[in-house]
Amino acid sequence: MSRHESPDITGAMTVDVEDYFQVAAFADRVKREDWDNYPCRVERNVDRILGMFADSGVTATFFTLGWIAERYPGVVRQIVDGGHELASHGYEHIKVHSQTPESFRQDIRRTKAILEDIGGQRIKGYRAASFSIDQRSLWAFDILAEEGYDYSSSVYPIKHDHYGMPEASRFTYRPSDRHTLVEVPISTLALFNRNLPSGGGGYFRLLPYGVSRWALRRIGERDRRPAIFYFHPWEIDPDQPRFDDVPFRSRFRHYVNLSTMENRLRAVLRDFQWDRMDRVFPSSDCGEECQETLTATSTSAA
Ligand SMILES: [Zn+2]
Repeated sequence: MSRHESPDITGAMTVDVEDYFQVAAFADRVKREDWDNYPCRVERNVDRILGMFADSGVTATFFTLGWIAERYPGVVRQIVDGGHELASHGYEHIKVHSQTPESFRQDIRRTKAILEDIGGQRIKGYRAASFSIDQRSLWAFDILAEEGYDYSSSVYPIKHDHYGMPEASRFTYRPSDRHTLVEVPISTLALFNRNLPSGGGGYFRLLPYGVSRWALRRIGERDRRPAIFYFHPWEIDPDQPRFDDVPFRSRFRHYVNLSTMENRLRAVLRDFQWDRMDRVFPSSDCGEECQETLTATSTSAA
């Protein structure tokens, strides 16, 4: 066997399907009503990702914006035709804690209907824009369950200036005993009494690949849990149109190491085993640990 990392634990590979002008870091610069004016890059980038996955024999979960699906239904059909899981990233990338419970319900209902209509498969999963289910928006779990979602992957149990709920469980848990919805948090590494992000995103581009590989390996070996990895189509696209008039910090986070990302991804696809969320974490198989953590992060809001 050529794969040398914890071959018995298959992790979940995920892609958040949004374009370079829709990211939270540029939200002050790019108005939502102007999105249609920006050149689209998501079609060619998803196409390349599907090629990389096919080369590695990996199937994955694509959390897709309703806004993208409506405009580029061919992208959605290509994802489904490749044997991948289609899931919801909300309609237009609005953070959960800046929505009301009622507007959130409308958003996830509308997006689920759009994706199911185009993709022809039931939508089971949801990922919030910018991991925006936190202490301000725990009510979202109940609404997701009521609207027919089986799982969420919307909590990042780290400290970060834009998102995160560092006190939340690092592993799959049931947020409420009122329903069976599970939350599957992005992978972190527990080190020096902190949870360090180790499941993709900007950190994966910034840190040397060897560090990320070590962290992912440790989650398999120490925690004996599947890793959950995420990235975006614009992260493999160094030729995307640039915004030079945004704060340095946002620019750095968005543009650092875009040109080496594809090679890093190929390495992570080669060094570990990956599959779709709904296969790695079947919701009927939450396990004992779900029950153990149930009370720790139980929602109080109804
Ligand atoms: Zn996103």
